[in-house]
Amino acid sequence: MADRQTCDLLLHADMVVTQDKERRILNSGSVAIEDGIVVSVGPSEKLEQAFAAREVVDLSGKLLMPGLVNAHCHAPMVLLRGIADDLPLMEWLEDNIWPVERQLTKDLIGLGARLACAEMLRAGVTAFLDGYIHEQVVGAAVDAAGMRAVLGEGFFGFPSPMFPSAQHCWDSIKRIDRQFAGNGRIRSAVTPHAAFTVPPKYLVKSYELAEGLDMPWQIHLAESPVETSVCLEKYGKRPVELLYSLDILSDRVTLHHCVDVNDEEIALLAEKNVKVVHNPASNLKLNSGMSPVQKMLDAGVVVGIGTDGAASNNQLNMFREMGLAALVGKVRSDDASAVNAQSVLDMATLNSARCLHWPELGSIAEGCPADMVALDLDSPNLQPLFNPVSQVVYASSGHEVSMTMVAGKVLYHEGAYRNFDVKALLQEVKQAQKWINAHR
Ligand SMILES: [Zn+2]
Repeated sequence: MADRQTCDLLLHADMVVTQDKERRILNSGSVAIEDGIVVSVGPSEKLEQAFAAREVVDLSGKLLMPGLVNAHCHAPMVLLRGIADDLPLMEWLEDNIWPVERQLTKDLIGLGARLACAEMLRAGVTAFLDGYIHEQVVGAAVDAAGMRAVLGEGFFGFPSPMFPSAQHCWDSIKRIDRQFAGNGRIRSAVTPHAAFTVPPKYLVKSYELAEGLDMPWQIHLAESPVETSVCLEKYGKRPVELLYSLDILSDRVTLHHCVDVNDEEIALLAEKNVKVVHNPASNLKLNSGMSPVQKMLDAGVVVGIGTDGAASNNQLNMFREMGLAALVGKVRSDDASAVNAQSVLDMATLNSARCLHWPELGSIAEGCPADMVALDLDSPNLQPLFNPVSQVVYASSGHEVSMTMVAGKVLYHEGAYRNFDVKALLQEVKQAQKWINAHR
């Protein structure tokens, strides 16, 4: 016993869905963690003998899996949840969302970000890629919550109440990047809003900025056929074609939506190693269309999954998003075997991690950050259990999550948050709702 290796934490679970290279699923599996990093994953019997842990967590009756990575989010928009539903994209955005958003204060955005973190931790999300304004307060909320995020301070080509010019936003990106430079859980990305709201010269300049700062570059692209016609009218090119003509399709790029992409464009995205984020709930709700996900996967495009903002979803629930991705993928391909459960779990973990340009995330494997989630297998809807991956994708609602851990710290456990006074938070949200109602 004397030669047992010490570690901070040893978790024992009934089942571990590792999402490692071999996609191992362990019955009676354990994970050893040191300094927030997974040092070993294997059968409980073996790890019990190999490790002397300072703390042991008993996850009997639980399925342990990697934390879900939400690859497209506008976290503070949870404050606008349900404010305008049942409208097409442009009418929803221009007549209903932007007029209120324009008036949101920094404090409200911070409050929205905190609510979003609480919602995501509750449903097993450990990291997200964001896009909004005042991202320094989103970063502060993420830091306090203990989560991970890539912050995307967003900009338009035209002056906004936030930034008189795109250059102001870019200075802000640099400031935010410096502010969180020493923080291992928070990074930044350059975030133009869309090809129809940011003119080509700013797309190019912002891409150069991303190269200079060695950051990801993310944008909403090819979200709907309507966007394609606007692009064609303005620039004589379809959205993907436009980016290609500007020489900004590369592995640094993450595109959100890609609903209206043709076969030629899909081949190009694969060739250029561009990352794509699929947002099925948002696409369905705004009637933007169904993304050709199986075609993209077949072509070798890395496709992750995101919720988009809560105004167009209206949840930040990656379990629901996984289920929808699988179902919509079948209808889109007219093939019940398309976008199968394992592909979907890969998308919401490993692929989403690559969309964040954080490829170490998304699996429970040696050397990876200890970001993981436990599902309660005693939930009636998770029994009987023939196939754990099927159960995660098709049967789980997200409310089976009993524990969420980031960097080896339990942030949520059985209704209790490590870093939130959730009652006080919800009280603040109720006050905010009154303010929003008065400013619509
Ligand atoms: Zn979006």
